[in-house]
Amino acid sequence: MTSRSFLRLALAAAVASGAVTLAALPADASRPSRTVPVRLLALNDFHGNLEPPTGSSGRMVDEHGNTVDAGGAAYVATHMKALADKNTIAVAQGDLIGATPLISAAYHDEPSVEFLGKLGLKVAAVGNHEFDEGYAELRRIMKGGCHPVDGCSPAGEWKGAKFDYVGANVLFKNRHEKTDALAALGGANAAKVRQALSGWGVPALPPVSVKWMNGVPIGFIGLVTQTTPGIVSSEGIKNLTFADEVKAANVASKLLKLVGVKAQVVLVHEGDQVTQGQSPDACSAVPGAGNRIATQVDPEIDVVLSGHSHQAYVCTVKDPAGKDRLFSQGGSFGRVITQVDLKVNARTRDIDRASIVADNHVVTRTVTADPEISAFVETWKERVAPVANKAVGTITADITNTAGPSGESPLGNLIADAQLAATRTGGNAQIALMNPGGVRASLSHASSPAGEGDGVVTYGEAFTVQPFNNLMQVVTLTGAQLKTVLEQQFTGGPNNQAFTKILQPSANFTYTYDNSAPWGSKVSEMKIDGTPVTDAQTIRVAANNFLVGGGDAFLAFRDGTDLWSGPLDIDAFVDHLGKDNPIAPPATGRITVAG
Ligand SMILES: [Zn+2]
Repeated sequence: MTSRSFLRLALAAAVASGAVTLAALPADASRPSRTVPVRLLALNDFHGNLEPPTGSSGRMVDEHGNTVDAGGAAYVATHMKALADKNTIAVAQGDLIGATPLISAAYHDEPSVEFLGKLGLKVAAVGNHEFDEGYAELRRIMKGGCHPVDGCSPAGEWKGAKFDYVGANVLFKNRHEKTDALAALGGANAAKVRQALSGWGVPALPPVSVKWMNGVPIGFIGLVTQTTPGIVSSEGIKNLTFADEVKAANVASKLLKLVGVKAQVVLVHEGDQVTQGQSPDACSAVPGAGNRIATQVDPEIDVVLSGHSHQAYVCTVKDPAGKDRLFSQGGSFGRVITQVDLKVNARTRDIDRASIVADNHVVTRTVTADPEISAFVETWKERVAPVANKAVGTITADITNTAGPSGESPLGNLIADAQLAATRTGGNAQIALMNPGGVRASLSHASSPAGEGDGVVTYGEAFTVQPFNNLMQVVTLTGAQLKTVLEQQFTGGPNNQAFTKILQPSANFTYTYDNSAPWGSKVSEMKIDGTPVTDAQTIRVAANNFLVGGGDAFLAFRDGTDLWSGPLDIDAFVDHLGKDNPIAPPATGRITVAG
């Protein structure tokens, strides 16, 4: 770790040890207890939406049940300024970057992180998408420096995030790994801290951040969904483990208590689903992974702000001691800011739970956009325009990512064809399979705001469909292993696949599945170029590195051998869009549903 993060941790520890000294002073019972106000303003799942998000991503049901336009960095800034008072600490619950529009992604999300710094963000939990480009790249985003391959952005050398990223459940696999997080938690509490962490693990990120407000310290504990290894590319996080969120929160809570910080807030990138169409202030969250954390973490933790599920809710749950605890989330894409007002007892330094009031505010666009942030976004828009507006191909009609009865979508099939075309030479691929969740948008035949003619697809539009910068890879699977991959599409089974996810096949690969057949024997009649596939034959299968690494619980991909890595998925897609123009939407009859 660099000296900068070391210093930050060392400062946090020093400040916190001061808290211990003060807390140890004899309490004067005759003095009336005084409370000080603190306001938290929270964002989650911003996903680099500097420009106002479009379509359903840019609409939100408000407190009155009306669906309104929402989001956009300049509007977030206006609302933030209106809501902030002198007691405010701005925080976030992860996925601020990753899976972002081209305006941010083209510069490895530096523009988004700079915007969030300008917004006054102080602490953010890491989300799964903060690991999209790997741990080393996350460290660069945190600390600064130019990208090792792409160099500096047009803005010059990256200065690093102006806020603290925290992740208490992100640990090194190697228990002997050197960590600045541990080394920095020194000073008066070093021995106690080391003891609290013994038998736990070696933190790969600072577990907590302490911010002072009105003379009291507030401790923020960062957590990211423990499912992260299943939903990000494995290569970039190969040295990390993601521990159980509740266990990690409790260790971090103990650390904070050790150094005298009793006002404790969890920022967790995990959350629950809600009934659609509700007010953002309603609590219709269906108890799931978020609720488990909110109800089970240590009673010393006063507030749980969540993320990941892109839903808005304000709930009160019971902590293990039976006391009320806030559990909330603020949608996604900068459409909602969660305001939490609370009072801290200046003597005990704990939060008065009864004082907590939370309110989700929709980031409407009926206010005046913040001029400074508008200019900032405009600058990046101009920088990326030559790349975004370049025509890369033409299509005859809309090509959608909407799945038909078999689970195929026209765009998913087109992408699989593009991936096979890009990996036949070099990788000797025979078929391609594409995960449906990675087809992020549809291609529209109508002209975009950039003004190109009907049917023209721009690089910006193609990028919106394939924004992850995944590498294309090819592995050898036996026919039997390929069948196992296809069985893993369906819910249940030994991997506990949570949802049925039908992989999009290239045109030359056909098969049948029977939904009513038991798990493990749903798939039959696999054929490549019309020839039946046998269990023993070997097949070169192309897929992106997310799937090849076992993503989306397709663990059978990991049995593949003779790994070959090729071009980026976006480059494969753009190349294909430029061939045989204009392109008609592919049919969706590659998979037959039996019964
Ligand atoms: Zn997420």
